[in-house]
Amino acid sequence: MAGRPERLFKLFGSLDSLPGVGPKTAKLMANLRIATPRDMVLTLPERGIDRRPVASIRDVPLPGLATVPVTIRSHRPAGSSRAPHRVEVEDARTTFQLVYFRARADTLERSLPVGERRIVSGRVELYDGVGQMPHPDHVLALDDPLPPFEPVYPLTAGLSGRVMRRAAAGAIDLVPDFAEWADGALVAERGWPPFRDALAIAHNPQGAADIAATAPARQRLAYDELFAHQITMGLARLADRARPGRATEGDGRHLKCMFDGLGFTPTDAQIRAMEEIAGDMAKPRRMNRLLQGDVGSGKTIVALAALLNAVEAGGQGVLMAPTEILARQHLSGLRPLAELAGVVVEGLTGRDKGREREGKLDALAAGDIHILVGTHAVFQRDVRFRDLRLAVIDEQHRFGVRQRKMLGDKAQDTDVLVMTATPIPRSLALTQFGDMEISVLDEKPPGRTPIKTATMSTGRMEEVMTHLRDAVAEGRQVYWVCPLVEDAETSDLPSAQTRFDDLSARFAPGQVGLVHGQMPTVMKDAAMARFVSGDTRILVATTVIEVGVDVPAASIMVIERADTFGLAQLHQLRGRVGRGATASTCLLLFEPPLGETAKARLQILRESEDGFRIAEEDLRLRGAGDVIGTAQSGLPRFRIADLERQAALMETAQSDARTLLHADPKLDGARGRAVRDLLWLLEQERALELLAVG
Ligand code: ADP
Ligand code: MG
Repeated sequence: MAGRPERLFKLFGSLDSLPGVGPKTAKLMANLRIATPRDMVLTLPERGIDRRPVASIRDVPLPGLATVPVTIRSHRPAGSSRAPHRVEVEDARTTFQLVYFRARADTLERSLPVGERRIVSGRVELYDGVGQMPHPDHVLALDDPLPPFEPVYPLTAGLSGRVMRRAAAGAIDLVPDFAEWADGALVAERGWPPFRDALAIAHNPQGAADIAATAPARQRLAYDELFAHQITMGLARLADRARPGRATEGDGRHLKCMFDGLGFTPTDAQIRAMEEIAGDMAKPRRMNRLLQGDVGSGKTIVALAALLNAVEAGGQGVLMAPTEILARQHLSGLRPLAELAGVVVEGLTGRDKGREREGKLDALAAGDIHILVGTHAVFQRDVRFRDLRLAVIDEQHRFGVRQRKMLGDKAQDTDVLVMTATPIPRSLALTQFGDMEISVLDEKPPGRTPIKTATMSTGRMEEVMTHLRDAVAEGRQVYWVCPLVEDAETSDLPSAQTRFDDLSARFAPGQVGLVHGQMPTVMKDAAMARFVSGDTRILVATTVIEVGVDVPAASIMVIERADTFGLAQLHQLRGRVGRGATASTCLLLFEPPLGETAKARLQILRESEDGFRIAEEDLRLRGAGDVIGTAQSGLPRFRIADLERQAALMETAQSDARTLLHADPKLDGARGRAVRDLLWLLEQERALELLAVG
């Protein structure tokens, strides 16, 4: 990787070089992720204080902030050490007091001489009808300019706004003039200022409009950040595509058998996805595609179509699921349809051992098994395929790229299809999966009965129990989900174990089952099997059941302390019912009092079964990190861009990045070189490495 351009050295130098910043301040700034002048430049004020002067404190609602010219009338020094020093002042319409605790009278009397005029700015409160401004934020001479709108930076204890403002101004001075890296037409159309000007404007807002996510300078800077990210994604995608792949093109004979055996017509969305995938596979490049579709949108047959395509072309396919339960379910779902076409499907999990496992591995190596379905065991070192053409990775709700990496050397040129059941808002999908192509199943198969969703306070538990008894008597089956496995000292959340004990005491022996992630797999499977067969009527569980489990006869879902779950997770859990012919119910139990956001979130679930809408709302209410779960997401932490309020920018950034890279994949044209500066500035190391090796 060639070194950082010299023009940027100062920006990446020490913070001490900024006015007013010494080692102590630098240490405090580190708490705000500010380690260099460059970081300071990219840390924008998050709000502003209106300091436009008014004639009198009577002109503003109190208590509130006021900036007023006053005449100093008198001093009333503190009588005791605990009492404050008061300064009587007069504005255009009234008198009020500046109040100072633990202040030196002589200093105050010197800085606020009786009879003089000053502008004071601060919060005013009324005590017994008298206005008081304790410790004004500003006391200035009349001709001393006070910024009418004071930017407020994210602060940390001990770091004042004034220090931040000075440091920011100094840091902006270190920003060189860059050539324009954004698309000229876009910049003109949006009326965006050049990068450096945008920084200056964003750090010196003149009013609330300049702080808003819609302000042109802010939009521009957010765009730059997203654009740099998408350039990185785009370069990764190009590198991926430059790797040799294989053209896999089936003749459709197996596919036809599958369609004949389905007993239903695929939705338009399914057909579109199948075509997109087949188109990718036919190209002599490695496919890297995401299939996104809500629970029940019918991803399975789309995956199967792709797998059959690989087999038709003389190759093999593998499908990996995140859990054994799911792997088994996929196996039993795919096998009958595949067998119609004479295609051999086999399962492999960590539980396969010894002779039987060896037999499977041999058959796989010989090409006698066409499609392998299993857990991550399918990618163990000694598992060899004769000709692996396609890997389908079912991540369900688990975001992440780990499994993709597991393909490793086993399948360098193998096409990859990742399936996810979590409807991610488009802006997040582009962020998370910007290096992939995306197919979306945005349409559900017809004929589903809507799920009735209700919320109820835990205080009404006995009512719930009565309903439950009736429902079970009617022959219905019930999932009961708890946040915890066992009671914990550190938490008062209900546990599956305790609820199981409680329900077992209320219902006939054997009617209640229990399944959670800490049980050995054999016991989990046995518990699931008893529920599937209808032996147990109520299954108490943790979120282990959210992942794809399919029991069509279950028509009631009770979720305890629903207020502690993520919205997407609740949606997934609810998706466990509503799979059969009976009308289903989802009961969300909550512990009052509920906060406004919690209330709004549960309300969305009552209103909608559209996973994409729920995901968008979740993003709006919680923020990007929370929706995906920041820690595991690998989602970049943007400094400026706000994925909730500037989502549309991400799409623009992606399409611009792709267009530019199409025309100038090595970024050595004039605009490409400007983009390199941006990549350096925004520390897109991965992009710079890719450019260096490419
Ligand atoms: P998911 O996307 O959650 O994996 P599945 O593939 O398991 O969804 O499909 C859910 C159910 O819908 C299955 O029983 C499947 O057979 C059925 N299904 C899939 N596609 C259609 C369709 N086009 N018309 C009717 N039923 C369908
Ligand atoms: Mg599925």
